Amino acid sequence: MKGHITCTVCPVGCKILVVSKPNGEYEISGNRCPRGKQYAIDELFSPKRILTTSVKVLHGDVPLVSVRTDAPIEKSRIFELMEKIKSISVEAPVNVGDVLVRNIDGMGTSLVATRKVEKNGSPLENCQISG
Ligand code: SF4
Repeated sequence: MKGHITCTVCPVGCKILVVSKPNGEYEISGNRCPRGKQYAIDELFSPKRILTTSVKVLHGDVPLVSVRTDAPIEKSRIFELMEKIKSISVEAPVNVGDVLVRNIDGMGTSLVATRKVEKNGSPLENCQISG
């Protein structure tokens, strides 16, 4: 087997050639630095991605808050974790950077809010109109 992977670690975008050898090892070439070799190995054997999605918010000025994992997670576990996230709801207010779930993947990765959600209720509700 042989194939090309474009390294996305830096803007150079090296085209890395991966060739499997009869002994089960891989020969990797085309990378200008060792980070590309590691990238190609990771993409072949355990590709990882940052998971971005949204979580339900209770009593917020909007019903959902956008979230992301604070580290890449194994691509093969994305659907499993999406099912887990679907069952989660958080109480408003939520601030950018709030950790909504610690260790969501059992590997120490946290789910973090990427936008602010205020508590429900317009500021006008607290105003008193006299006269
Ligand atoms: S192999 Fe190195 S130089 Fe090439 S794109 Fe990847 S990180 Fe950049």
